[in-house]
Amino acid sequence: MSICKKCNGYGTVILRKVDSYCESCFLIGANHKFRACLGKTKTLSPNEKVLICIKGGLGSTVLLDLVSNGLTLDNHKKLRIIPYFLHLKGFENEEKNLEIAKAVIKMCNVYGFNVYVSNISDYIHSDYILPDVNTLPTLDDVTVDRFQMLIRSMPPTAQIDFLAKIKRKLFIRVAQKLECKFIFSAETTTTLAHHLLSNIATGRGSQVQNDIGFSDNRDTIKILRPIKDITKEELTHYVHVKALKVIHNQETERKDSLQSIISAFVTDLQVNFPATVSTICKTADKIGNHHHKTNKCEICESDLDMENSQLSALEATSFSRIISIMEPQHRNRDNITNKNSSLFPYIHKFLCYGCSRNLSEASNSELPSYILDKIKVS
Ligand SMILES: [Zn+2]
Ligand SMILES: [Zn+2]
Repeated sequence: MSICKKCNGYGTVILRKVDSYCESCFLIGANHKFRACLGKTKTLSPNEKVLICIKGGLGSTVLLDLVSNGLTLDNHKKLRIIPYFLHLKGFENEEKNLEIAKAVIKMCNVYGFNVYVSNISDYIHSDYILPDVNTLPTLDDVTVDRFQMLIRSMPPTAQIDFLAKIKRKLFIRVAQKLECKFIFSAETTTTLAHHLLSNIATGRGSQVQNDIGFSDNRDTIKILRPIKDITKEELTHYVHVKALKVIHNQETERKDSLQSIISAFVTDLQVNFPATVSTICKTADKIGNHHHKTNKCEICESDLDMENSQLSALEATSFSRIISIMEPQHRNRDNITNKNSSLFPYIHKFLCYGCSRNLSEASNSELPSYILDKIKVS
């Protein structure tokens, strides 16, 4: 029989193969991690409006429960925020997406919360009208077609990367409409370790701090990750102990992408070397520069700072790529420099390397017109 590490009671939750907890000490621990993470920042003032993104997977199901718990407390530990909820409806399988969206509405309503549901294809348009709460949005075929063409013309690795930037943008757009200065998103230690390695592999190493740290500060609306110290293993126990229903557990990532390989690697690490994953994330929090540049990528809002760079990894990559596609007789310095900007569209001036490379790999690189307008007018 295993003994709870905290209270010496009967331990039924076993973490990292060695640490046992009873259900009640385990839940207290998870709530504590959530509150400690928010507490450290001191960025939230009382009654702050916060937009909370609910995908319906493991992370957001637990986040919803933790927020609800925090709000119902009746003491000094009460969570003092005004929450708004958003679900972004996917674009690939409409029947399935509708099913998920309906289940998310139901799940939020059970807690007494309203939820906004929006289509991810709304990204195509610059204007955004807030839908009625708890209703499924209508789809406009032209918009969906354009969106699908843009995404599907990219190879899997670029698709996943670009979709993550699109979702971030849409979260911020909805937060603006609702006058929320903060967004909560539900990444765990495990997902963040995965994102960190993916970032590095896709040339977004300089964006690690905003993508993996507690707070994404690229926009005036900040994205916070309050369950970032909780692992996927703990979440799985959490839903089990509290008998919560996770709406969908499918990994949305395509099997033939770089991200899916990294995800498999991190999952394996988590099982066999659990301490490594949290070490990866702690390292990420220490990397990065805090100063802000005025030039930002039009897609992901990352700083465009190339002034002081020596020969960067990007230049090395462009160079080898250009060389490999050029006829040998044209391989001279001027040709290579000219090709650099056409190979990676709008790079440095309007887009970061990661976003520009996504476009360079799309056969239909027609961005939404509101982005193109900015790029061309400037
Ligand atoms: Zn206990
Ligand atoms: Zn970018």
